Amino acid sequence: MAAKRDYYEVLGIDKNASASDIKKAYRKMAKKYHPDANPGDKEAEARFKEVNEANEVLSDEQKRAAYDQYGHAAFDGAGNMGGAGGFSGMDMGDIFSGIFGSGGFSGGFGDFFGGGTSRRSNGPRRGRDNEINLTISFEESMFGCRKSVKVPVYEICPDCKGNGAKPGTYPETCHKCGGSGQMRVEKQTILGIMQTVTTCTECNGTGKVIKEKCPKCSGSGNVKNVKDVYVDIPKGISHGQAVRKSGLGGAGSNGGPNGDLYVRVNVLPSPIYIRKGNDLFVDFEISMVDAALGVDVKIPTIDGDKDYTVKPGTQPDYQVTFRNKGAYDVHNSNNRGDQVVTLKVVIPKDLNNEQKELLREFKNGGKTEKKKKGFFGI
Ligand SMILES: [Zn+2]
Ligand SMILES: [Zn+2]
Repeated sequence: MAAKRDYYEVLGIDKNASASDIKKAYRKMAKKYHPDANPGDKEAEARFKEVNEANEVLSDEQKRAAYDQYGHAAFDGAGNMGGAGGFSGMDMGDIFSGIFGSGGFSGGFGDFFGGGTSRRSNGPRRGRDNEINLTISFEESMFGCRKSVKVPVYEICPDCKGNGAKPGTYPETCHKCGGSGQMRVEKQTILGIMQTVTTCTECNGTGKVIKEKCPKCSGSGNVKNVKDVYVDIPKGISHGQAVRKSGLGGAGSNGGPNGDLYVRVNVLPSPIYIRKGNDLFVDFEISMVDAALGVDVKIPTIDGDKDYTVKPGTQPDYQVTFRNKGAYDVHNSNNRGDQVVTLKVVIPKDLNNEQKELLREFKNGGKTEKKKKGFFGI
C-alpha cells in the first residue's frame, strides 16, 4: 500500500487551519472529486475517499489533536485493520441491531480476516466473513433504501455433494494420522527428546485424503455462484457502518456454517447538509438587507422546506435549531437528531455607484442632498 498522504495536504490547508477552513476545504475537494462529477475515474474515486477520510479526522477536535500528535499512527489499530474502509475509529466497537461501525470487528469478530484458514482441525469450520462496499446517496442514508448487490455465494458442489472427491470415488481416512489430523513429532534437542503435536502434513488436518479430486470444484466441495442479493439499508445509517447478511460470506467446510457478509456503506456527502452524530448542520444565506429588516424564508430540511421568519436585526452566524429534524437514529428510528441552521449574512461585493451612494447615505443617518428612493426602503 502506498504511504498515506498527510491529511492537511489532502485537503490543501495548513496545520493552523480553523474548523471553518477545514469545512470549506472539505466541501471544495469533495465536490471536485465527487464520483458524480467524475464518472468512472478511479483516481478521482481514490481522492474522494482520501478527502473523506481526512475530513473525518480533522473535523473532529479529539481526532485532530491525536493526529497532530501522532500522525497516522494515531489511528493504526482496529480502524485500519486490513485496510477495511480506513475510516479510522468511527463508531468503534459499535455492534447493535445488525449495524456495524468500521472497527466493529475488533471485538467478537476475530474470524473476520482469514477466519477458518489459520486453525487446523478436522472439525467443522465456519467460513470466512466477507465484506463489500456499497455507495448510497445522502438521501438514501437518511430514509433507508433497498439495494441489490452482487455477491459470490458458495454452494455445495452438486457433483461430489461436497466431499470433494471425484464422483464415484470417496475421500479416504488419512493413513498418516489415522484420521485425527494431528501428528506427534519427536525431535532430538540439546535438552533431550522433545515431543510436539503438529498438523498432519498429509491431510492438512482434515483427517481425510482425496485421491482423485472432483473436477467441478477442484476438491474444495464448494462451487461459487454470483447472485443478486437484496440489502435493506436502515434509515439513519452513517458513512462507514455496515449491515450484516448472515450466511452469505465464505463457505464453511467439514459441515461448518458459512461466514457472514458485511455490506459496508459509503455515503456520498450532501451539498447541503453536514452530519455530526444524528444532527444535521446547514448554512443558509440571507442578504445583509434581509438580516437587518427581517424576512420570511423557506429553509431546506430532509422532510422538505420549512417556513422560517428571520427576525429584524439578525446577526451574522445566528443559529436556529429545528428540534427532531435531524437524521434518524439508526438503532432506534423513533429518535431523531436536530437540524442546526446557521444564518450566513452575505455582504455584497459588487455594488454599483448608486448603491454605494445609498449606503453612504444610510451611514450618515439618511441625510444627503440627493433625494432618492432608498436602497433600504427608508
Ligand atoms: Zn465437487
Ligand atoms: Zn492426516
